[in-house]
Amino acid sequence: MEYITRKTMLYKTGVEYGDYTMNHVLGCTHGCKYPCYAFMLKKRFGQIKSYDEWIEPKIVSNTLELLDKEIPRLKNKIQSVQLCFATDPFMYGVE
Ligand code: SF4
Repeated sequence: MEYITRKTMLYKTGVEYGDYTMNHVLGCTHGCKYPCYAFMLKKRFGQIKSYDEWIEPKIVSNTLELLDKEIPRLKNKIQSVQLCFATDPFMYGVE
């Protein structure tokens, strides 16, 4: 599995049922074709180039370091954290 890094991890979502969210993985082995909203969004904004790239997920390697910095700053604002708008947290075939 490939790794990427991010500058931030926790962010306030605009989705009405959500509060904060985090995406510690980019891509999803399920590769749903009905179509996947996350895939379309990531492709549209240039974070993913193709379907083949999407089904080879990348882990954000600095997730824990980012959370160590962000949780103390945001803990009084956060009611819940949604996993994950840009993957499925229970992908098969992934350790
Ligand atoms: S993120 Fe959800 S909809 Fe998209 S491919 Fe994975 S399981 Fe399917």
